[in-house]
Amino acid sequence: MTDLQQKIRACRLCETRFAATATRHRPKPVVWFQTGAPILIVGQAPGMRVHESGKPFTDRSGDRLRQWMGIDAEMFYDRSRTAIVPMAFCFPGYDAKGADLPPPSLCAATWRQQVMDRLQPKLTLLVGGHAMKWHLGAQNVTRTVANWRDHAPAIFPLPHPSWRNTGWLKRNPWFEADLLPELRTAVAAML
Ligand code: SF4
Repeated sequence: MTDLQQKIRACRLCETRFAATATRHRPKPVVWFQTGAPILIVGQAPGMRVHESGKPFTDRSGDRLRQWMGIDAEMFYDRSRTAIVPMAFCFPGYDAKGADLPPPSLCAATWRQQVMDRLQPKLTLLVGGHAMKWHLGAQNVTRTVANWRDHAPAIFPLPHPSWRNTGWLKRNPWFEADLLPELRTAVAAML
């Protein structure tokens, strides 16, 4: 593990913030990247299941994302091929409705540029609005995903693969019909 990875693993900057949530959990950064991986997946922040497993996307969102990419878990978790760097490395807790809180911006402000300086991805998947905002300055998820051809094949903006977005997928059938085949082609070319 590199010096930077060790520092992120040891980070406790959000300890007080997380202690004030309903789950009163402690920071547990999920660090999953190494230099040289051709694919970068930029997620939002770990959910509770990932907080417990310590491995990114070990949940239904991960199942859907792997299906979108057209790869199995073995390739997905091969760090020489895929770097998974969310906008915050720790589970942020739940809001009053039981949804995950947004990733604390302190995390990206502290770590993100340092990590990005060590990666040279050829293909970047921006998963959700927070990733699109940081990497593209984009404010609107649907508009940004609809304009995916502006960024492909090096970058693919994607909605979050959460079950909460199943309605969005139904309302936007072009996503599965047009974008996903191109995404799978781009992923296959990297592997
Ligand atoms: S979310 Fe980021 S900044 Fe906050 S404790 Fe975890 S690693 Fe540190």
